[in-house]
Amino acid sequence: MTYNLNPELQQPVRDMVKEIGPEIEKLGRECDRKPDAFSFDIFKILAAKGFVGLSMPKKYGGGGRTALEFATMMEEIAYWDPPSSLLAGISELATEPIINFGSDEQKQEFVPKAASGEIIPAFALTEPNAGSDAVNQKTTIAIDGDDFIINGEKIFIMHGDVAHVGVVFGKIQEEGVRDKVSAVIVPFDLPGVKSATLQHKMGMKYATTARLWFENVKVPRKNLLGEPGKGFKYAMITLDGARIGIAAQATGLAQRALDESIKYSKSRIAFGSPISKLQAIQWMIADMSTRIEAGRLLTYKAAQAQDAGERYSLFAAQAKLFTAEMSNFCVDRAMQIHSGYGYIGEFSSIEKLYRDQRITEIYEGTSEIQRLVIANSVLRG
Ligand SMILES: Cc1cc2nc3c(=O)[nH]c(=O)nc-3n(C[C@H](O)[C@H](O)[C@H](O)COP(=O)(O)OP(=O)(O)OC[C@H]3O[C@@H](n4cnc5c(N)ncnc54)[C@H](O)[C@@H]3O)c2cc1C
Repeated sequence: MTYNLNPELQQPVRDMVKEIGPEIEKLGRECDRKPDAFSFDIFKILAAKGFVGLSMPKKYGGGGRTALEFATMMEEIAYWDPPSSLLAGISELATEPIINFGSDEQKQEFVPKAASGEIIPAFALTEPNAGSDAVNQKTTIAIDGDDFIINGEKIFIMHGDVAHVGVVFGKIQEEGVRDKVSAVIVPFDLPGVKSATLQHKMGMKYATTARLWFENVKVPRKNLLGEPGKGFKYAMITLDGARIGIAAQATGLAQRALDESIKYSKSRIAFGSPISKLQAIQWMIADMSTRIEAGRLLTYKAAQAQDAGERYSLFAAQAKLFTAEMSNFCVDRAMQIHSGYGYIGEFSSIEKLYRDQRITEIYEGTSEIQRLVIANSVLRG
C-alpha cells in the first residue's frame, strides 16, 4: 500500500499509470537490450494517456495537474519502468522555461504541441566544460539585425537527438548584458543544428541522451526567452522543479526494488526455509522500507510547497539528494537479496533497475551540488 498525502489527487494518477504499467515494462525490457535509441512506441503510449503534458497549463493543452500529481506520475511510471518516466517527464522539463518565462505567442506556438507529444522539446544547458559549473557557457548568442547567430556545443541533452525544438542557453553578445547567460528557443530543423545519440549509456537507454552542435544557427530575435541576461536564473528555477520529478522517479524505482525483494525473499529457500525468515534479510528489507517512506515524504513535501507557491528550492534539493542516495541503497540491497538471480538480467528486473538508478545521483545537479544548495540555504538561515 503506497502512502498518499492527498488520496483524492494521487490515487487516480496511480490508477491511470497502472493501466499501462505492464505494457511499458515489457516494451522497456525489449528496448533495453537493443542499441540506445529513443522509444517512440513508449512515448506514444505515454502521450496518448496525457502523461507527457500532465502538469502543463490547461490553457495551452496540458493536463493542468498539480506538482504533487506530477510527482506521483513520475513515481508510479518509474515503478514500472524508470526510463519511461523520463520519456514522460522531459517534455515537461524542457517546456517549463517557456511556460514560466515565455511570451504568450511563444507559449501558443510550442506548449500545446509539446503537451500532446506532437513535438519533442529539449532543455539544452550542459556543455562539455559547463556541467555543475553551468554558468561557464561557451555557446555564444550573437546579434545580427533581427536575428541571433548561435554557435556552440551541448552535451548530455535528454531527447536532443529526436527533439524538434530546444531551449538553448548561451552567452549573449549584446551591450549592457554582454556575456550574460540567456535562453533562446531554437527549432532544431534550422540549418546548422546537428545532433548525435550518445551510445553505451549505463541505464535509461531508450530515453536517449544527445550531443548537439550549433554552427552559425540563425534564429529570429523574437525567440529570446524572457529577458536577455536572465537565462541562468531561468535555468536554475527550472531545475528546482525538475529535481522533485527526479526524487519521485528515485522513490518509485526504489519501491520496485523493495517489492521485488519481498516477493523473492519469500520464495527463495535456503537452509530449508525462505530467506525472508533470516534476520539478515529482514533487516535489509526494514531499512529499505523505512528509507523509501522518508524519501517519499520529502518528495511530496517539496511538491506541496511548489503547489502552494512557497519557496521550495531547499526542499527540492533535500528530496533529490536523499532519494537519489536512498534508491542507490535500495537497488544495492535488492541485488544482495536476489544475489545471482539479481546480477543476471534474464532472471529478474534487478540488474536493469540497478543500472537505471545510478543517474539519479548525477543529473539535475549531482549529489554534491545538492549538498551545496542545501548548505548554502541552511547556513544563510
Ligand atoms: C543521462 C544524462 C542526462 C542529462 N540530461 C541533461 C539535459 O537534458 N539537459 C542538460 O542541460 N543537461 C543534462 N545532463 C547533464 C547533467 O546535469 C550533468 O552531467 C551534471 O550536472 C554534472 O555535470 P558533469 O557531468 O559535467 O560533471 P562535473 O560538473 O564535471 O562534475 C564532476 C564531479 O565533480 C563534482 N563537483 C563539481 N563541482 C563541484 C563543487 N562545486 N562542489 C563539489 N563537487 C563538485 C561533481 O559533483 C562530480 O562528482 C544530463 C546528464 C546525463 C548523464
